[in-house]
Amino acid sequence: MSIKENLLSLKNTFVNPACLLVAVSKTHPVDAIREAYELGVRDFGENKVQELEEKQAALPKDIRWHFIGHLQSNKVKYIAPFIYLIHGVDSLKLLTEINKQAEKADRVIHCLLQVYIAKEESKFGLDEKELEELVQSEAVKNMKNIKVVGLMGMATFTDNEEIVRQEFRYLKSIFDKLKNKALPPNFDLKEISMGMSGDFIIAQEEGSTMVRIGTAIFGEREYK
Ligand SMILES: *Cc1c(COP(=O)(O)O)cnc(C)c1O
Repeated sequence: MSIKENLLSLKNTFVNPACLLVAVSKTHPVDAIREAYELGVRDFGENKVQELEEKQAALPKDIRWHFIGHLQSNKVKYIAPFIYLIHGVDSLKLLTEINKQAEKADRVIHCLLQVYIAKEESKFGLDEKELEELVQSEAVKNMKNIKVVGLMGMATFTDNEEIVRQEFRYLKSIFDKLKNKALPPNFDLKEISMGMSGDFIIAQEEGSTMVRIGTAIFGEREYK
């Protein structure tokens, strides 16, 4: 199927049409992104800094670029001038560096805190206690060039839909709890980024506001 057909059938299966589609274009060429762009997609997700920089330079400037991978602090400076949303913030160190580079670029960078919800050791993210510590930390309150707009999580890679559903439900419950607390001024919690090609319907049923979808739009990835 073509990118056009994939996008159409994908949108038809959304149980929440208001949920934002972030088209995950990692490993796919600029031409594929341009094709989706011409069909109206403006939000694209990448997980490698260098690949993102090259694509950003080559493509229209009204694209909203989402960083969806594990971001190393020493690479924040390369994307700070243009990044729209950083999905995977999982430490005070990283948030501090994003704030610093955002100030240099004279911007306020929107971030999502990544929460560990899966039963896989390999996944990144904060547990509930670490999330609480980050939110309460004095340092975060004084960061004027970041805005925390929500949470992000990745479910266990499994065919067991019940496990996936419980993990997404858990993330939503953490989000709701956090929203009811006194939060720093640079917090404005609205977004829950959860759901990929294999589990976005469950994610939307459980309250996702943003899904990150690659394979179902662009086809299988080939890693070189
Ligand atoms: C690659 C990736 C996706 C997209 O995965 P698909 O299964 O291709 O939809 C979503 N989120 C993150 C964090 C990713 O790294």
